[in-house]
Amino acid sequence: MAGIFAYRCRCCGDIHEGSPSFGFNAPDAYSCLTDEQKDLHGWINDDLCKVTIEEHTDFFIRVILEVPIHGVSEPFLWGVWVSASQKSYERYVETFDAPVKGDGFFGCVSNAIPWYPEARHLATNVYLQTDGGRPLLRLHSGGTDDHPLIHDQENGITMTKAQEIAEFVLHNAT
Ligand SMILES: [Zn+2]
Repeated sequence: MAGIFAYRCRCCGDIHEGSPSFGFNAPDAYSCLTDEQKDLHGWINDDLCKVTIEEHTDFFIRVILEVPIHGVSEPFLWGVWVSASQKSYERYVETFDAPVKGDGFFGCVSNAIPWYPEARHLATNVYLQTDGGRPLLRLHSGGTDDHPLIHDQENGITMTKAQEIAEFVLHNAT
């Protein structure tokens, strides 16, 4: 039986229980704007974001990147944003309250993910969920020098590595 992830943190000494889950409030292309620029060029809610600069708009959707943890039922979760085409974005908005089974779209990771080398622009397929959950992201794999995050999503990570990443994110990356 797969267990529940819990560990005594080497940073703060607390017991952190449950599989780690970290989210980004916005894609980096929005976060990096000043407040004034956000007002002028950006629009965001919990699931959607648009940034328009000089008549060019970038569209972003919040999704979930799962990384399996060996021996644990719940995966390591990253709440990340992906870029999407205008067509994909509009389809997502139109079907937001009633996603169509099998729907999905192509997008690229739009957050730098802590602990890992630069992950922005990794290509992904995004699969809509019909159970009310956010869409799930699958990183494209198959390259000869796959990014470590692609490797980890495919193969899963050990509890030791999950702990190491969680400690880093909780106590170093702010
Ligand atoms: Zn801690």
